[in-house]
Amino acid sequence: MSKKTTQLVHLGRVSGDAANAVNPPLVRASTTTFPSLAEFKNSYKGVTFETPRYGRSGTSTVFELQTAMAALCETESCIATSSGLGAVAAVIGAHAAPGNRILIQDCVYGPTRVLAEKELDKLGSEVVFFDTLDALESHLDERTALVFIEVPGSLTMDMIDVEAVCKLAKHYSVPVACDSSWGTPLFFDAHGLGINISIHAATKYIGGHSDIMLGLITGSYDDLSSTRDWCAHYGSTAAPDVCWLGLRGLRTLDVRMRRHEENARHVAQWLQGQPQIKKILNPALDDDPGHELWKRQFTGGAGPFTIELVACSEEEFAKLIDSLSLFGLGTSWGGFESLVMPAIAHHLRALDVLPNEGRLLRLHIGLEHSEDLCADIGKALAHISATRPMQN
Ligand SMILES: *Cc1c(COP(=O)(O)O)cnc(C)c1O
Repeated sequence: MSKKTTQLVHLGRVSGDAANAVNPPLVRASTTTFPSLAEFKNSYKGVTFETPRYGRSGTSTVFELQTAMAALCETESCIATSSGLGAVAAVIGAHAAPGNRILIQDCVYGPTRVLAEKELDKLGSEVVFFDTLDALESHLDERTALVFIEVPGSLTMDMIDVEAVCKLAKHYSVPVACDSSWGTPLFFDAHGLGINISIHAATKYIGGHSDIMLGLITGSYDDLSSTRDWCAHYGSTAAPDVCWLGLRGLRTLDVRMRRHEENARHVAQWLQGQPQIKKILNPALDDDPGHELWKRQFTGGAGPFTIELVACSEEEFAKLIDSLSLFGLGTSWGGFESLVMPAIAHHLRALDVLPNEGRLLRLHIGLEHSEDLCADIGKALAHISATRPMQN
């Protein structure tokens, strides 16, 4: 098979041929009609979301994206959903049942955590959060229906040994789901590392232009079977227009990701020399505690990472954020533009932090020139008076 760079250009273009077009046509439908009863009966092949039947089961535009994504992730199938969180909810919801247990990594995306905390007990499922491999092992048992991880973890950027997680879970025949949004299929081969169900918030890098909401779930037919049923029964679908934009995003994913990576490394390394920065949480950096695992599991680094500031007042913190001009203040990432978002350390970790300490900023490094980004942050950091003690 050709390299992913080439696949991104050529996958998902089959239906364009009929129209002599480079791109597949955008097919919108609620109603799909059939020329005969025999063809109507024949239209359901036993797998929802792969053949036209009714608008909710998708159109050729949706199938093109799903097929392209499955091939890119070197697995059998893909299900598109209305958002990344919709994909997370489908996977977790499909595995929850009275009396069973779902194990979720501590550092997952905030709304994933909220979903687990607020909804799972209504389904009779027990949720247990874990942080380390030892903790995971101690919680795994015959009642466990799913292990859910995210690498790197949102905001704290924790790394976990994915192969070790999969090995532990396999011992109990428990499937492992992974939120793979940060690495994208280009930099993170989830299924190659043993993940059964991989979740991609395509809203982020696959869409890439800050203008769509889309989730994609990849895995084998067997591994996606309960999730597919859940999506069919609960009416979870993705719009053809959005899938068409998702396909368009795939075409430039490679070049965008490489520029995000280069820019993020440049900005992070520059930040390391600034006295107002206490710590940088980014496993792509050599001295990050997660770096060895990152090197083993990823072939590139993405744009979002987190910085911890030296002690500063809320006023200084606000001035810093408000004086940035190239970084929009927003809670997403994955588009072409740079973003900044405040995160409160003691909301994320059960640490005793002193007042005014441990303020975190999550940056998304966009496609601007990295020297302009450094200059913009440099100007903003000047609002923080604190200086780091001399290191020797
Ligand atoms: C944004 C995000 C999601 C949710 O995606 P939406 O499309 O915004 O619902 C899930 N996981 C991670 C890691 C994310 O960053």
